[in-house]
Amino acid sequence: MEIVCLDLEGVLIPEIWINFAEKTGIEALKRTTRDEPDYDVLMRYRLDILDEHGLKMKDIQEVIDSLGPLEGANEFLAKLREDFQLVILSDTFYEFAEPMMRQLDWPTLFCHRLIVDENDRVADYKLRLIDHKRKAVEAFKKLNFHTIAAGDSYNDTTMLGAAETGILFSAPDNVIAEFPQFKTAFTYDELMDHIRAASPRFG
Ligand SMILES: [Mg+2]
Repeated sequence: MEIVCLDLEGVLIPEIWINFAEKTGIEALKRTTRDEPDYDVLMRYRLDILDEHGLKMKDIQEVIDSLGPLEGANEFLAKLREDFQLVILSDTFYEFAEPMMRQLDWPTLFCHRLIVDENDRVADYKLRLIDHKRKAVEAFKKLNFHTIAAGDSYNDTTMLGAAETGILFSAPDNVIAEFPQFKTAFTYDELMDHIRAASPRFG
């Protein structure tokens, strides 16, 4: 029995922070882990900006809701779920992902939590588990699942390495060059072909 583990942002939905920055016009929110490698410093900076602009959880979810999944993502997931168990492993937060999960028909999602206070202000965040994508794949393997994983960036590479088959989907050139051991796909059709080829039942 196979289980497919997919990253969320950049694979099924747009990058939340970058698109949120564009929709709101808040340039300062375009800062990413490439500009600030310390994730905690970056998240505190982002939460401070949300505060400065008086953005509450409800406003943020409205903006995210307006983004929508990537084109073809829903059709891809519907087809995939006919033949495979699916779990989405993401470093986003449930509260941010919720509007997207509704549009993707509520697939199983493992990610992190935001702490929202009684005034609907995003007060803090809580990582459920460090390097949880890799740990989830390792746990699925212990449960005797054949694991196939796909993601688009650096934070997916330990998950891809732990899986029986790791696939880079629409990854930037530098990531592909640095991790030549992984298969690459740029369309959902290519991704589906790789997944089926990696499956002992279909491959
Ligand atoms: Mg991603």
